[in-house]
Amino acid sequence: MNKLNDILAYNEEFVANGEFEKYLTGRFPDKKMVIVTCMDTRLTELLPKALNLRNGDAKIIKNAGAIVTQPFGNIMRSILIALYELGANEVIVIGHHECGMTGLNSDVVIEHMLEKGVTQETINTLRNSGMHLERWLTGFDNVHDSVERSVGIIKNHPLLPASTPVHGLIIHPETGKLDLVVNGYESDN
Ligand code: ZN
Repeated sequence: MNKLNDILAYNEEFVANGEFEKYLTGRFPDKKMVIVTCMDTRLTELLPKALNLRNGDAKIIKNAGAIVTQPFGNIMRSILIALYELGANEVIVIGHHECGMTGLNSDVVIEHMLEKGVTQETINTLRNSGMHLERWLTGFDNVHDSVERSVGIIKNHPLLPASTPVHGLIIHPETGKLDLVVNGYESDN
């Protein structure tokens, strides 16, 4: 069986056995929080457990590195929707130690693209059309700075509801221990 068939077969049993019942909840986050964090596999179950979050408690947005780079990109739009339309009133950015985006080098990623069949011509065409591939595919040097930067982009966004606390944290991917980077109740800008 392939992965997709495994999933579909399992799912049929899951639904038929009513296993979803213990997860029933609403679409508005009970704890009125929106969290931006990393897609790291170690955080899938650990992060909600370490923060005492259950199904229905928070909107959780994930990407590679828990990074908000674009004030008018997809992640920021999701944050604003959560705040304006879904009842959230606080934002937390949670980076983590040992993140794959730490030290990510765009040259290496492009090299891997070429190995997997993307042509040099495609890369050149994108470059020539003004796509900043290098910048786009580069991670960060330091997770602490990255969390601070993402918090800053959210906090300074012209469309953020006034006085929305925006916090920054770093989670340990094995122990779940949280380190505070920015306390959004205390920040003054
Ligand atoms: Zn990560």
